[in-house]
Amino acid sequence: MKRVLVTGGAGFIGSHLCERLVSEGHDVICLDNYFTGSKRNVMHLAGCGNFEMVRHDVTAPYYAEVDEIYNLACPASPIHYQYNPIKTTKTSVMGAINMLGLAKRVKARILQASTSEVYGDPDVHPQPESYWGSVNPVGIRSCYDEGKRCAETLFMDYRRQNGVRIKIVRIFNTYGPRMNPDDGRVVSNFIVQALRGEDITIYGDGSQTRSFQYVSDLVEGMVRMMDTPDEVTGPVNIGNPGEFTILELASLIRELTGSSSRIVFRPLPSDDPRQRRPDIGLAGELLGGWRPEIQLREGLARTIAYFESIIR
Ligand code: NAD
Ligand code: UDP
Ligand code: UDP
Repeated sequence: MKRVLVTGGAGFIGSHLCERLVSEGHDVICLDNYFTGSKRNVMHLAGCGNFEMVRHDVTAPYYAEVDEIYNLACPASPIHYQYNPIKTTKTSVMGAINMLGLAKRVKARILQASTSEVYGDPDVHPQPESYWGSVNPVGIRSCYDEGKRCAETLFMDYRRQNGVRIKIVRIFNTYGPRMNPDDGRVVSNFIVQALRGEDITIYGDGSQTRSFQYVSDLVEGMVRMMDTPDEVTGPVNIGNPGEFTILELASLIRELTGSSSRIVFRPLPSDDPRQRRPDIGLAGELLGGWRPEIQLREGLARTIAYFESIIR
């Protein structure tokens, strides 16, 4: 059994990852500053002898003896990462430096939760890992996109300079139970609006696309990536190639919730990517035939059931 550190462990994805690692018997440290995450997300694990929670901010050094580190700490939704953009960049960059310094000292494997946002508003579609992206360095999304790009650079340089055993996954839009209902992401917004009978707010004309991955598929991909041989570093895309317009997503959520909410149109935020779909060929090759199992309709049904249980 391994000692595993999960930064951002009390967040949406981190909580599912902690649950998986605890169930496999690993000794798990869930580190979080609770900016967007919540103790409630992992409270059900608190009684397990192999789970512990630590309140800590990754921009400060942290010392522990561990075998593996999953570095997820970073606000991930536009309203939260734009709330204090300087802190967002610090979290990505200083957080990466501190966790890489820790990995170097204890010779741990370390996996970075990077993002499809490193591709920006992509000119190449679908996006393979070899595409360098089209990112605005000075816009309102830059704190997140550039912070994550710099973190990838740091990971590769700690590998080249110090031989740290690194892994990078580029995560595409992921949804599921324990998404924060207030974080403004499209899936949680639309489900909450539909369940409350409020207007469903589409930004722009709804023709922009996203590819939505259910959280259990992502966790499986991340765990498989951590288990690859040391020479496999990535970056590797992890996502579901099923691509939908935002208007299609709104209609599907309205249908699945049986809601009579109206669909309304609001201004499109600046730098909002037009299209996004992962090329997952490399993940299939490197991760033992990994591919997403849960398609949108089923994943949404499970997520709707969760939101019904917390907001009604
Ligand atoms: P989330 O906001 O639920 O989780 C992020 C967690 O990090 C929260 O618990 C938050 O409190 C914690 N955190 C933030 N700043 C911190 C700091 N300075 N120190 C310690 N903890 C801090 O978001 P999520 O969707 O679970 O995302 C987890 C990771 O996956 C993030 O790194 C995100 O960039 C990445 N990611 C997510 C998606 C997605 O669609 N959900 C897509 C691409 C990448
Ligand atoms: N660090 C940490 N935990 C450790 C080891 C290092 O948080 O167990 C931090 C350390 O404070 C430093 C960063 O990681 O700021 C980078 O460490 P590295 O050894 O690469 O650089 P240096 O200490 O030489 O600046
Ligand atoms: N979006 C929307 N209505 C909402 C929230 C988001 O139309 O209430 C749009 C948003 O403009 C973007 C897409 O849905 O085009 C996905 O947004 P999200 O913030 O979930 O993810 P990201 O843009 O970071 O991929």
